[in-house]
Amino acid sequence: MEKELYSIIICRSNNHMLRAAALLKEVGVALEMVPVPGEYGSVCNTGLKISSRIKPAVEQVLCHHKVSLHGIYPLQPRKLDGLLAGLSPKIDPDLREVLAKEETGENLSEEDIIVLLEVSGENNAEALFNAADRMRREVVGEVVDIRAAIEFSNFCKKYCSYCGLSKKNFYLERYRMAPEEIVEKVRDIATWGIKTVILQSGEDPFYSIDMLLDIVKGIKQETGLRITLSIGERPREDLRLLKAAGANNFLLKIETTDPELYLRLHPDGDYRQRVLNTQWLRELGYLLGSGNIVGLPGQTIPSLARDIKWFQEQGIHMVGIGPFLPAARTPLAQWPPGDGFLTLKVIAATRLVLKNVFIPATTALATLDPQLQIKALQAGANTVMLASTPERYRERYNIYDNKYPVDLEWALTMIERLRRKTVLRKV
Ligand code: SAM
Repeated sequence: MEKELYSIIICRSNNHMLRAAALLKEVGVALEMVPVPGEYGSVCNTGLKISSRIKPAVEQVLCHHKVSLHGIYPLQPRKLDGLLAGLSPKIDPDLREVLAKEETGENLSEEDIIVLLEVSGENNAEALFNAADRMRREVVGEVVDIRAAIEFSNFCKKYCSYCGLSKKNFYLERYRMAPEEIVEKVRDIATWGIKTVILQSGEDPFYSIDMLLDIVKGIKQETGLRITLSIGERPREDLRLLKAAGANNFLLKIETTDPELYLRLHPDGDYRQRVLNTQWLRELGYLLGSGNIVGLPGQTIPSLARDIKWFQEQGIHMVGIGPFLPAARTPLAQWPPGDGFLTLKVIAATRLVLKNVFIPATTALATLDPQLQIKALQAGANTVMLASTPERYRERYNIYDNKYPVDLEWALTMIERLRRKTVLRKV
């Protein structure tokens, strides 16, 4: 059978990309949203993957409706040539079969991902992690992107049962940083040469949209840094205004794509609303971050595999994958931490399936064991987030206990040990 070839439609703006997607869906075209490879420059960051067979017809529809196109390009399958030749003969046959698909650039199915997540034994694990590491090298290169996170409020209106910031945690001493204090801290971070700052908080309505806009505009004017927001669910109009004010990325983890498990863990949450928020963020043109927690009570391997497929279907650009860690005085305080090895396998499988995305070696992994953070960078991860909340607040941002203080020194030590690179801005 002849192999299916794919093309990527790249539009000149996010609005045109969304119009193209709607028009093509209306006429029954099967498409997938995918991150646009960096080499196309600063265009819309989400592209539409279609079968190359229908490219002429698609071009006609889009041209007729005056969709502004950057172009429709052949989407080269990301192949890992020669992957099998380098494998030890002791590799499990199922794993070998899945890695053979990576060698030829075939899309992995949910069943294939399950095989990857069920890998056991040193040889098999090494084969999986090496394949993911090679994919990382080929799609995003040797640079480890260092970002700085400021956790500016630990107030939260939500009751997530795993999280130490839950509104139910009456014992947690709460804090909020004033807008000027946040901008001041970012000014300090900018002097380290970091290019992206992540502003994270519990879901805290105290920060009105006007306050948030002042913060975003203040940071942009004073430092020009890229801004990632991670402030939970907000009305669509707020998200639009924040994007227009200069916010670049938004991190809103889905946590789990199993709706029943989601409901159990978020008694006041609404899975559909979380998905809708994710869709809004994409529509508004944010570089879109999502992710999950590994080791939640009742979570299964097939459910983790579905998470990865969901990230792929949603065209997620950045995937934060961390183990569950218990937080004192929460309903899950006695639940054991997520498995580090399984978390590494989820990272590796995500890299192999999604390819051209940002994957942090998370602080949660470092908290479980700092060596796991290094291993994550060797199993597909390419980003590190520094804990840059001012010292006097840091301990109170207790989403889980004993958070590892990932600082610039540690990040640079890891990068040097792995003989990788980082690019800090000249200041
Ligand atoms: N409120 C925002 C939201 O809902 O996206 C962002 C802040 S929330 C505290 C940041 C992330 O912490 C969550 O997306 C969740 O994955 C992670 N988190 C919270 N509690 C955790 C725990 N006990 N173990 C591991 N990760 C946890």
